[in-house]
Amino acid sequence: MESVQGIAVSPGIVIGPAFVIGEVEEHVPHRSVPPRERAAEVVRLDDALAAALAELRELRDRTARELGDEAAKIFEFHVGLLQDPSLLGPIRARIREEGVNAEVAVADRFRMLIQQFEALGSEVFRQKANDVIDLDRRILGKLMGGTSSRLARLKAQAVLVAHELTPSEAAAIDRERILAFATDLGGRTGHTSIVARALGLPAVVGCTRLSQRVEDGDLVIVDGDSGTVILRPDADTVQAYRELDRRKRQYRASLRADAAMKAETRDGTAITLLGNIEFPDEIPAVLANGGAGVGLYRTEFLFLTSPTEPLEDDHYAAYRRAIELLGGRPLTIRTLDLGADKYTQLRAEEPERNPFLGLRSIRYCLQNQPLFKTQLRAILRASVHGPVKVMFPLVSTVMELRQARMILNDVIEELEEEGVPFRADLPIGMMIEVPSAALMSKAFAREVSFFSIGTNDLIQYVLAVDRGNERVAPLYSGANPAVLQLVKSVVRSARRESIDVSICGELAGEPLYAMLLIGMGLRSLSMTPGQIPEIKKIVRLVDLEQCERLARRVGSFESERQVLNALRDELRAIAPDSTGGWTAE
Ligand code: PEP
Ligand code: MG
Repeated sequence: MESVQGIAVSPGIVIGPAFVIGEVEEHVPHRSVPPRERAAEVVRLDDALAAALAELRELRDRTARELGDEAAKIFEFHVGLLQDPSLLGPIRARIREEGVNAEVAVADRFRMLIQQFEALGSEVFRQKANDVIDLDRRILGKLMGGTSSRLARLKAQAVLVAHELTPSEAAAIDRERILAFATDLGGRTGHTSIVARALGLPAVVGCTRLSQRVEDGDLVIVDGDSGTVILRPDADTVQAYRELDRRKRQYRASLRADAAMKAETRDGTAITLLGNIEFPDEIPAVLANGGAGVGLYRTEFLFLTSPTEPLEDDHYAAYRRAIELLGGRPLTIRTLDLGADKYTQLRAEEPERNPFLGLRSIRYCLQNQPLFKTQLRAILRASVHGPVKVMFPLVSTVMELRQARMILNDVIEELEEEGVPFRADLPIGMMIEVPSAALMSKAFAREVSFFSIGTNDLIQYVLAVDRGNERVAPLYSGANPAVLQLVKSVVRSARRESIDVSICGELAGEPLYAMLLIGMGLRSLSMTPGQIPEIKKIVRLVDLEQCERLARRVGSFESERQVLNALRDELRAIAPDSTGGWTAE
């Protein structure tokens, strides 16, 4: 038995057999091939070799064009090796005669060759050994396919243990077969984690090298509340986790039973609790959890789950469905936030060096106006069916906001000319998730009708800590006084200009922060649907004065530790059975 501590990102406990998708070179699947399937296995190998060869030739030619023949020579060795019968013959023979699968036959043969080169000792041969390693990875990559094609091979129910999952891979997970996942990489507010919460799929990320420590079929426990993953647990541990799971389910069920109650503090201050969604299908969960509407619709997931670019009517159909499911409750549609970790295969153009500081979100839309206009047309058309607002993400300068508005105005004029109905007074808002926008919030507040504070990005940009990087996860904290000061100043600017302000980062759904956010003046919180009942419970247990007192006290602190201690003490005092701190005994 072995226990690995990762980052808890989506609650729930699952006990099941592992299905491992490690890094290609580190997790070669072993399979024995029955005699009648061996010829097909050799064909599979030859297809992979042919694809790798074509890729290498293309690379060689491109290098020759761009850097000259001398530089292209490095690929000659690769190309030659891939056609060498003395290397490939024994690989094919092992498949035919011993029935090993192509991946194993390739990995074993290449490992032998690498060892031979390394044993020769000189720098030249060490370089050759590196070339062979590179080639080995390339062929194994072809044989094993991407994560999605490997996942397609999973037949029974399992816990997915992966080196890394992209948000679109997570969104495509088949809930019938994958019961939970745990990954080596990732952080709590990375979009893969957000998708796990949206799907209600228990998940732990940031479990360094987990995928190398597990084999397919090993029993694992994923505890999405504490972030613990247990490998090959003994019977007593399995029993203890079953019991813990039962208690937690009972607690969550009791919270949901009160979901329909009003979200107001003991002294009668109304707090609007809304849901964050990636797909319209999540709206029934928002309502079942007692949400009053949708405060953030991440529309880019329409792109991430589709092999082709959505057309205007695809956008329109999704928005209209969301509006209908909400039955008159409010819907804030955020325009496309593509880029950074949210790229479809289709749009994976030249990789950027610093994608989170690159062409993402509103910047991407402003540079790709046809795509932006397509979405804006659909939002405007859908706006006649219900109370819709539109919101621009990642705005960092006033000029950017004005540009986005100008494009929206162009679209409005087009619709007017075409006689297409839309809501003329569509409220336009922006997210505050870049420090420059928070610092200039007074100026922005004069230009929009609402703000929504996106703490997921705001924290990473204020603290210079990648939200998806497990190595710096302990530095990523909403309790940092610099973050809290900015949030407070944004709320103040909004109040001065009498515009609405809400918060839609993951902080809004963290029980620990609920009192503080209310005390800072927020009256609208938008979160993962499953978090609404617990936040509502806290709202109903506190009064405004208590929250404001806490916010004043926290405002005087200079360290994150002081803030966290104060928040923990306060939460423990008002809601001792809140989910943090439960352990298996
Ligand atoms: C945020 O940054 O807080 C936010 C809500 O947007 P996203 O998580 O989609 O980047
Ligand atoms: Mg964001």
